[in-house]
Amino acid sequence: MIPINTLYVALRRASKFDNFCIGTAIIWKYGYISQSTYNNRMPKMNFCPNCGGALVDLGRDSHPVCERCGTTHWRNSKPTAGVLIENQHGELLIVKRAFEPFKGEWDLPGGFLEPGEPPEAGAIREVKEELNVDVQLTGLLGVYMDVYGDSSYEYTLNFYYLGFITAGTIQAADDVGEAHWFSLENVPATMAFAHDRDVMADWKKSRAGRVDGVSSSILSDK
Ligand SMILES: [Zn+2]
Repeated sequence: MIPINTLYVALRRASKFDNFCIGTAIIWKYGYISQSTYNNRMPKMNFCPNCGGALVDLGRDSHPVCERCGTTHWRNSKPTAGVLIENQHGELLIVKRAFEPFKGEWDLPGGFLEPGEPPEAGAIREVKEELNVDVQLTGLLGVYMDVYGDSSYEYTLNFYYLGFITAGTIQAADDVGEAHWFSLENVPATMAFAHDRDVMADWKKSRAGRVDGVSSSILSDK
C-alpha cells in the first residue's frame, strides 16, 4: 500500500492543471484522507524508511531511532520562505489562508521550500503560485522558528524577505483565498502563525530603519 501522504503529494505534482483540486478530489473519493487533515499537521514518521522497523520517537526535541536497525532519522526544522511585499504607498500585502491549518486567518505569502531550493528562489516561487505576480527581493528581514499548525512534533524554520511586485496583477490562488493591502497602522491584530507576531514586529522596525537583518527571536526562543 502506498503511504497516504506520498500518494497525495504525487497526485498534486502529476496533474497538469489545478493539481491541488484533482489530488484532493481523488483522495476524497476513495476516502483515504481529507485535505484539511493532511494540511493541518506534518505527516509523522512511524516506521523506519531503511528497514520498516518501528521508530522510537521521544518528541520534537529528539531524533527518532529505529528499534530494529538502530538508524537515527534526523529531525531538522522544515524550511519555509515568505515575502513581505510592499507597494509604493508603503502598504503591506497580507493574505487570507484558504486551507488548514488556520484556514481564514491572515498570513504572509510564502510556503515550504522544495528539495534543494534556495530560500530566495522559494520565496519568489511561492508568491508566483499564490498571487500570480513576480516579485523582486530587496533583503532578508529575518529567520524565525515556529511549529507547523497543531503539530507538536515538527519545527519550522521560516525565512522572510522584503520585496516589491515587478510584474503581474494579483490573483489569489493555491493556498491563498484573498489578498489585501494594509497600511502600517491598520495591519491585522492577529495572524495565523505564532512567528507572524515577530515578523510583523520586525517589519514595523524595518520601516523605521532599525532592523539588523536577523531576528533576535531565533536566539531567544529556545
Ligand atoms: Zn530501521
